[in-house]
Amino acid sequence: MSKAIVSSLYDSDVFKMACRQFDQAADAINLPDAIRDRTKYPRRCLAVSIPVRRIDGSVTVFEGYRVQHNISTGPSKGGIRFHQDVTLGEVAALAMWMSWKCSLAGLPYGGAKGGVIVNPSKLSESELEHLSRRYMQEMVNFLGPQTDVPAPDVGTNEKIMGWMMDTYSTHVGYLSPAVVTGKPIALGGSQGRREATGAGVAYLTKKYLEDMKLPVNKATAVIQGFGNVGSETAIALSNYGAKIIAISDYTGGIYNPKGINLKKALEYVKYAKVLKDFDGGEPISNEALLELKCTALIPAALERVITDKNAGKLKCRVLAEGANGPTTNAADRILEQREEIELIPDVLCNSGGVIVSYFEWLQNLSSFYWTRDEVLTKLYGMLDKAKDSVDAQKRKFKFNRRLAALTLGIARVAEAKASRGLFP
Ligand code: NAD
Repeated sequence: MSKAIVSSLYDSDVFKMACRQFDQAADAINLPDAIRDRTKYPRRCLAVSIPVRRIDGSVTVFEGYRVQHNISTGPSKGGIRFHQDVTLGEVAALAMWMSWKCSLAGLPYGGAKGGVIVNPSKLSESELEHLSRRYMQEMVNFLGPQTDVPAPDVGTNEKIMGWMMDTYSTHVGYLSPAVVTGKPIALGGSQGRREATGAGVAYLTKKYLEDMKLPVNKATAVIQGFGNVGSETAIALSNYGAKIIAISDYTGGIYNPKGINLKKALEYVKYAKVLKDFDGGEPISNEALLELKCTALIPAALERVITDKNAGKLKCRVLAEGANGPTTNAADRILEQREEIELIPDVLCNSGGVIVSYFEWLQNLSSFYWTRDEVLTKLYGMLDKAKDSVDAQKRKFKFNRRLAALTLGIARVAEAKASRGLFP
């Protein structure tokens, strides 16, 4: 039995969801008590106040977090989210999933995540820069190429990573590109990093469709979220010949059974920032979009959108989790009964992002840069390996695919912790 004495610090639906997933996996592999809670709970966290001078001269204080879930297997690694609904519990859950993801992919990292409670679209460019730099400044003694390496997540991008890298480098007194990944190429970013997560989601979707004898060039895809992951998944799937029939962002969705013109959608979003009023199809709500008949459904926005209310109504053959934590525990139980749907769990499905972040970090540390082809070839090789190991685990123990992926990821972290021993 679990003997942890813990406060309500991380209490939230999404942290509870990540803990339930952990408990189920830990039970399935009989993880010994002595190691269980050490593996489960975040190692440490930092909460900071970030004062930002606004363009009208006033000052707004934002709250930011960084949770380092596991630092036993290498520096911790994970994105920074700028979103108005960020909570410490959400950041902790995302950090936990990063631990299992890095471990499953065989990366020499622990998991971490960061966040700031802010709607970045409400800030001017200079306010956003001030916020990003001050967040990094507050974290400077907590992060570093051998300590904890951030990357982009929802609401952050290459430009923000560049500002953060510059702030850290100014502090230490020399260029330190390996402190952050997902940077602009000019600052030591990797070829292929921008598209890595989406390219990986599309690659694994194609692979699973092949396993099911469904040709990708006859497939239809529905994608929720049209930011980095959603748009890059759409581009890569469409390059494989799939038809993208619906896309969405926080303003709603667009449905076109004949196929969305992605080039036009991307141009529209570049200019209008959102998909609202894009005339490439019929408007559709984010809820209705998830229930569209399609070959592949790809949630690529926020957590907990596939619930016990809609899991029974999904009409896809593959559910590819581009987002982290899109499926609740209750929805998982329903999907387990729906054998016609193949689930590609988040810790496998979207791991292309952190894999190419690892490549970026390696290139920065060695100052030796790879071509895009080299990056993508190595990425697909690592995804194949992770996919094969998950499917072998699934077959061997008759687990569902999420349990197979989580048990592999968790067991490796637990084994490393047990081998290191417990410092008195
Ligand atoms: P992003 O900020 O680039 O894009 C997020 C998209 O989701 C935007 O189009 C936004 O409008 C949309 N969105 C926000 N709220 C929504 C809502 N309620 N309904 C529908 N759409 C909504 O973020 P991203 O980097 O693409 O991240 C998306 C997901 O992928 C997150 O779960 C993130 O943790 C995960 N992820 C990202 C990466 C990465 O490399 N960026 C890697 C792995 C996983």
